[in-house]
Amino acid sequence: MVAEDPRRRIQGTDTLLARPRIRQAAAGVSPHVLTDFIRQAQARARRGEIPPEQVESEVVSQLGRYGPSSLRPVINATGVIVHTNLGRAPLSAAAKQAIVEAAGYVDVEMDLETGRRSARGAGARRALLAACPAAEDALVVNNGAAALALAAAALVGRGEVVISRGEMVEIGAGFRLPELIESTGARIREIGTTNRTHLDDYLTALTPGDDATGTAAAVLKVHPSNYLIRGFTSSVPVAELATVCREHRVPLIVDVGSGLLAPEPALPDEPDLAAALTDGADLVIASGDKLLGGPQAGLLLGRAEIISALAKHPLARAVRTDKLTLAALEATLTGGETPVAQALHADAELLRARTERLAQALGADVVPHDGRVGGGGGAEVPLPGWAVSLPEGVAAPLRAADPPILTRTSGSGCLLDLRCVPEELDQTVLSTVQDALRRLSAEG
Ligand SMILES: *Cc1c(COP(=O)(O)O)cnc(C)c1O
Repeated sequence: MVAEDPRRRIQGTDTLLARPRIRQAAAGVSPHVLTDFIRQAQARARRGEIPPEQVESEVVSQLGRYGPSSLRPVINATGVIVHTNLGRAPLSAAAKQAIVEAAGYVDVEMDLETGRRSARGAGARRALLAACPAAEDALVVNNGAAALALAAAALVGRGEVVISRGEMVEIGAGFRLPELIESTGARIREIGTTNRTHLDDYLTALTPGDDATGTAAAVLKVHPSNYLIRGFTSSVPVAELATVCREHRVPLIVDVGSGLLAPEPALPDEPDLAAALTDGADLVIASGDKLLGGPQAGLLLGRAEIISALAKHPLARAVRTDKLTLAALEATLTGGETPVAQALHADAELLRARTERLAQALGADVVPHDGRVGGGGGAEVPLPGWAVSLPEGVAAPLRAADPPILTRTSGSGCLLDLRCVPEELDQTVLSTVQDALRRLSAEG
């Protein structure tokens, strides 16, 4: 007698769809996602990876793990605060709540008193101006790059913008600021050298000559947010540049990058929006999701007539912020200390105590480890702290864990830094690492 092919015992899609356990677990899941899970489980059974009887529980367990999107919350144990690959700034509790509340119908462009249309994003604008009184007006767009493109399109057009060769920045993933500016039709007038640019270089560029180069329409000063030029260097401070720009009647745009609204004692060399405006910049640009600690956004602050020209430009509509961002940005500015600020100001003794507790429970060592500001701020500024030193091989199992934990790989192995980990997750970190270490030694 020929043995029955076990694959014949795999239940059909319609039968599985009717199973009460599956129907219950699939509440709130789209039908095509559910059929996809069923097909995958059936396929695994056909390949002999699971017994035919297990198809139903496999589908139920897949449904149980299914999140509303494929983005998975992770624990950032790298010590890098603004980590672009991990979504930059984690939002404050207030910003998260604001996003949830703005998700439905909201009065984003409606005056509830009169029932008339109102200015979009008025609350975020008010909050920005309250946080940075040096600005006459403010506009929020999609991100820092969009803010730069809008400024170039509206203030430079097909004309020339003067930029120092020491400030021609590439930010990440091959994104080059000069290329972005040129894509708007503006031409770049490079001045100075990589290491040294003087006031005279700006003066020459701003003085109409007989070489048919034309006069510049604007001057752009960019903060080199991800590198340092050291040694025989020189650049022109905003205050000096502002005087020259005023004399030549061209706007001075300063791209601050990191989004610090006011000076930050922990990062003494980091420029801030208020100082650039007080020093005479006509327009300052920054990102919302770096040191400001908010959602992805491009902030434009400065003279009222310039902001008004930007808001009226056709491109402004193409880079318009959505209601969720406006809600989160306002809440970031008016709420309590952001997670970014908390990580930046983390109490050294408390960090040490947490790290030692974790290391002791794991039977691992504590080593000194400098945290970093990361993407777009505090280039090379070490933030002294500690890390748990783990075997190098545990990094991969930790990434595959639930929740995934991201660590820092260094010569001495895999370093787990608690600076960016909320304290209430310490127990989760401990059990997840214990589990990953067990798996590692079982494999090894
Ligand atoms: C990060 C950065 C940008 C780009 O901002 P995004 O918000 O990432 O688009 C532009 N300029 C500088 C100096 C930056 O640091």
